Amino acid sequence: MKTVGLLGGMSWESTLTYYQGLNRGIRDRLGGLHSARCLLASVDFAEVERMQERGDWAEAGGYLANWARHLEAGGAECLVLCTNTMHRVIDDIGAAVSIPILHIAEGTADALQADGIDTVGLLGTRYTMEQDFYRSVLEERGLTVLVPDEHGRTVVHDIIYNELCLGKVLDHSRQQYISIVETLKQNGAQAVILGCTEIGLLLDEQTSPLPVYDTTLLHVEAALDWALKPTEPACA
Ligand code: GLU
Repeated sequence: MKTVGLLGGMSWESTLTYYQGLNRGIRDRLGGLHSARCLLASVDFAEVERMQERGDWAEAGGYLANWARHLEAGGAECLVLCTNTMHRVIDDIGAAVSIPILHIAEGTADALQADGIDTVGLLGTRYTMEQDFYRSVLEERGLTVLVPDEHGRTVVHDIIYNELCLGKVLDHSRQQYISIVETLKQNGAQAVILGCTEIGLLLDEQTSPLPVYDTTLLHVEAALDWALKPTEPACA
């Protein structure tokens, strides 16, 4: 089993899901008392959120790159960035380490394609829904990505930062998300990506009007596959 480096705290509410999912997954796959070999770096999200708000992505990239270096120095063999939004700075992080980074949108695209989905709704922070860094990964794989209208995006974004990242899971907000997903369905989406690692706290397969692709759970599966993949023999 290889050692996974989790770069989390964005927010810690969803980092819990990663830590638990990784350990439960190793237990289920290997049995007995097996648990995940992992290192966790958990940042102060208030600092990251201020950089996002200022649009200072270069500073955020440098900040996370520094944490990634600590994980690599500590023995992590791959990196899992426990947030969709901060994949905005994956290139800065990648330049700072020599271990692979498992991109959260790649595993999601794999799952969608395996299920034959070609048009998908995307919920996430405003940055994830509106900027190119995330959608382009999906679009390059041939997926058509639909996002909510301006009002819907504001509702989705505000609920993430004002509630979910603070551990508040409110039924009223769940109803708002359901109605936004209903509109995406009417607009042609065959499924919805929970493209923020906290949305799974609010919406799931039972409550969503569309099949859900929860990026947190898919990212954990990708990390499990990677950790248990046999190491390829070195070339002679
Ligand atoms: N966890 C969230 C995400 O997956 C939002 C928090 C953040 O901005 O990192 O995008």
